[in-house]
This record gives sequence, structure tokens and C-alpha cells, in this order.
Amino acid sequence: MVHFVGAGPGAPDLITLRGKKLLEEADVIIYAGSLVNPALLSYAKESCEIYDSSRLNLEEVIEITKKADSDSKTIVRLHTGDPCLYGAIREQMDELDKLKIAYDVTPGVSSFCGAAAALNMEYTLPGITQSVIITRIDGRTPVPESEKVEELSKHGATMVFFLSAGDAEGLKRRLIDSGVTGDTPCGVVYKATWEDEDKLTCKLSELPERMAEHGIKKTALIIVGNAVAQSGYEKSRLYAADFTTGYRKGTDAKED
Ligand code: SAH
Repeated sequence: MVHFVGAGPGAPDLITLRGKKLLEEADVIIYAGSLVNPALLSYAKESCEIYDSSRLNLEEVIEITKKADSDSKTIVRLHTGDPCLYGAIREQMDELDKLKIAYDVTPGVSSFCGAAAALNMEYTLPGITQSVIITRIDGRTPVPESEKVEELSKHGATMVFFLSAGDAEGLKRRLIDSGVTGDTPCGVVYKATWEDEDKLTCKLSELPERMAEHGIKKTALIIVGNAVAQSGYEKSRLYAADFTTGYRKGTDAKED
């Protein structure tokens, strides 16, 4: 049995209780060493075999998994954040399907949630935007034409850029060329929830310089959009005094 587990964004106490239990019980852990906090490995039992997948290719990961499974061992495949985002889990699941090895998934706190927490930020402010776009700029993995920054930025939603910190200059240029104004607020969080977390907020026009000042080139999220300013929004109707909900009678409620 293989358990895909979301490790959370970094802090070892941000894994789920279920994820921690699976780590404690695992005979084999294959973890994404480039981004998973190694402190999480202290939850493993002494006899657990531990592999860093940043040094392995897909075939090697599957080979280790296959061998462990044939010895009836329990395997945890530990991915950073939540495995459903840029986790390359589908290709592993397809190989496991071919081998008839069972698996399940335990979600984790994605880094885009860790980054919002670091900035005390609500991404979906009424009156500003009600949507979050999770995306990236092209790298080794191309982005489909209809999802280019130039297209997505038209929505005015909060945009969270993964895997893009290495080209802040390109990101800024492309956003500005597509009509996003230079004074649009941005947030950058490096290693959200880790001990060496760093963060900044700035205008889009100064994004590359501010990131360079902080020496941020990777392991960071860039958040762009008017919601980043966390001002000028409308209060939610949910908690408005005059608003009646299924749970609470508002001041405008008619007596029955
Ligand atoms: N599945 C992961 C994302 C993996 S892709 C998740 O849900 O968070 C790797 C990218 O995620 C990095 O390049 C970076 O952009 C982002 N990332 C991962 N952990 C991060 C963290 N703690 N702080 C900021 N960005 C992080």
C-alpha cells in the first residue's frame, strides 16, 4: 500500500494528524527532499527506510515502491504542500495502477495557504475579487496558450504564481504588457511557515528589485492583485448585523 501524503508548506506541525500517523507507521518513506522539511522525518520509526526523491527519477521511485510493496511494507510518498498541485502524482498513480499496487491520498496544507497566513491575507475580499487563480509562468513545463498570464490577468482575480520566482522580471513585464497597472499590489513569501520564512509586499512595478533585495529566487510564491492591499473591500454579508441566516436572526428580521 502506498500513501501519498501532503507534508504541508514547511512547519513540521502543519502536517495533518492523519499524515503524521502515516509517517509514524511507515516502513518506507520517499520524500520530496527539495521542498519537504526534513524535520518531518523525525516522526518516522527507527527501522524506516528513507529515500529522497529529488535524487531519483520516476522509474527509480517506482522500483523502490514495487520492491517495498512486494515485501508487504507500508510506503509513504511525502509531497510538499498538497499533492494535488504541481505534485506529479498522476504519473506515479498510473504506474502503480499498472502494477496493481493500491494507494490513497492524504491532503496537506498547500503553500498558497501558508503564504496567505504569513501575510495575514484573505485572497477573496468582497467588492474586490471572489476568485483565486493558481498558476505559474512557463518553465520546463509549458503553460497552455489559453492560460498564459496575459489571458488570466484579464479577470482581475487574485493570482498566485507557483514556480515563477526565478523570473520576476519576465512576470512583471508580461503582466504590465497585458494591461495590469504598475501600482497593483503584490506579495512575495519565501519558504512560508519555515523558520527562515521571508516576505514582502510591494507594487508590481518594483517586484523584481524588491525580490532581488531579499535574495528571493526560488521556493517562493508571488501573489498579484488588488486584494493584496487588504483594503477598500466591502464587509461580508454573512456577519452583517441586519442579515438573517439559517443560524442567526438579523436586526431586519420580521417576527414570525
Ligand atoms: N504541492 C505544493 C507545490 C509544489 S510546486 C503545494 O501545494 O504547495 C513547488 C513550488 O511551490 C515552489 O517553486 C514554490 O513556488 C511553491 N512552494 C512550495 N512550498 C513553499 C513555501 N513553503 N513557501 C513558498 N512557496 C512554496
